Amino acid sequence: MKPNNCQNCQSEEFLYGHHVIPKSLGGKLIVYLCGECHSIVHDRKVLKDISALTKAGLAKAKARGVILGRRPTSKKKINQAKILKDKGLSYAQIGKIMGLTRSRCHQLVTRKSEL
Ligand SMILES: [Zn+2]
Repeated sequence: MKPNNCQNCQSEEFLYGHHVIPKSLGGKLIVYLCGECHSIVHDRKVLKDISALTKAGLAKAKARGVILGRRPTSKKKINQAKILKDKGLSYAQIGKIMGLTRSRCHQLVTRKSEL
């Protein structure tokens, strides 16, 4: 049964039957949306702007004091990795000992400084 208002915003403006799965692909489920909501569904600009939304979200999190990204590794751990490498261990072996990935060990040993 067709509702009297938009199933997204409750507007009673002219309603469009929106096929959740396109009719051309055999979709039969219809949700009723007002003109504005229906155009948003079909306007891919909303999705194209996802990187702007992500940036805005990260900025908000930073403003709240959230620390983003990986925490810096302690000098002690970096030195431990370097010592093990000097002893001739492979990055995979060092990783196993230190509980890190092989590539992370490579980063620790080859990077000049992280702190
Ligand atoms: Zn609406």
